[in-house]
Amino acid sequence: MPVFTPEYLHKVAYEIYRGKGVSHEEATVVATHQVKANLVGHDSHGMIHVPEYCERIDKGHIVPGAPFVVERETPTTAVINGNWGFGFVVTEKAMRIAIAKAKATGVAVVTVHYQSHIGRVGDYPTMALQEGLIAMVTADSGAGPKAVAPFGGRARRLGTNPICIGVPSDLPGPVLLDMATSAVAAGKITLARNRKEQVPLGWIVDKDGNPTTDPNDYAKGGAILPVGADQGHKGYGLSFMVEMFSGLLTGLGFGIDPKARHNDGVFISVFQVENFRPLAQFKKEMKEFAEFVKTSPPAKGFTEVLYPGELEYKTELKRRKEGIFIEDETWHEITELMEGLKVTSKVGRP
Ligand code: NAD
Repeated sequence: MPVFTPEYLHKVAYEIYRGKGVSHEEATVVATHQVKANLVGHDSHGMIHVPEYCERIDKGHIVPGAPFVVERETPTTAVINGNWGFGFVVTEKAMRIAIAKAKATGVAVVTVHYQSHIGRVGDYPTMALQEGLIAMVTADSGAGPKAVAPFGGRARRLGTNPICIGVPSDLPGPVLLDMATSAVAAGKITLARNRKEQVPLGWIVDKDGNPTTDPNDYAKGGAILPVGADQGHKGYGLSFMVEMFSGLLTGLGFGIDPKARHNDGVFISVFQVENFRPLAQFKKEMKEFAEFVKTSPPAKGFTEVLYPGELEYKTELKRRKEGIFIEDETWHEITELMEGLKVTSKVGRP
């Protein structure tokens, strides 16, 4: 497996998108989000998607430079139509609007429809927590292809429907719960397949509903399970509500339309801590709370208790020092893309 610096991978993704006709600004935003996903350890949302996003540009499913339209607006709310732009670009702008409104009024809710994949959700609430706001973001795929079986069912009816909550604190890393409401994000099944690894039991079932560890069974008509294993009804319930916020409230709809483009409907809610308590006091207490939780002695098989977001923070510190591994299959696809677009010499050597 090759190992690269984040700067080099950023250059690779940036030049590939520039080669596909994407503007400097949008190529920078997309490359930054993808490399950040690799940095924090969510390789399923990083460079592995570069070839797929390029295919989507070719098919017209991602429209670089698409107009960002505010369809409805009040002092506390906005409805955004991304016109099939890059999800990273559209949702970043939508989050900026939500932050500005929450700073002015105390709270804000913004929904987004018609955009492509937003990648790792954690980046957007991080923008808010850095400005002293608490943010929750949920996403779902509307009538796009499904991945997850509802609790008690064996056929796909839901997306992996992530939920992410970011909170300001005095801790060095962001307090950030960022999780799929399925046992795992779909990208991790692709990653396991590319790395020729098995997946843990409890992640997926095959097309007949049998538990399996072979990631290939997912592509052959299987399904991912809701988070929670034998308590999967709770993960399923969360997923159902995420779809309500990001599919139904956004107007994207639900169901399965085989011709639908990949679409991340997004619900953003942001509120200002200062409207409830002095921010400095809250941030200090959040740190003390996390430290208190971490005083629990580790259970067998664990070395320490982590607060939400801590693992990603530690992984980023490590990968900034040691580099980022990209599996051969993904790197091979990326190299072919660079050659096809004649950008290899612009990227240069690692
Ligand atoms: P995951 O199972 O690794 O869970 C991640 C969450 O659990 C993080 O908040 C992390 O800090 C926390 N965590 C992990 N290990 C921990 C530990 N030992 N102790 C305490 N907390 C711990 O990730 P996932 O659910 O597979 O999601 C991975 C990524 O996929 C996320 O970044 C998510 O945003 C992204 N995703 C995106 C989409 C989309 O459509 N854009 C869909 C699904 C998932």
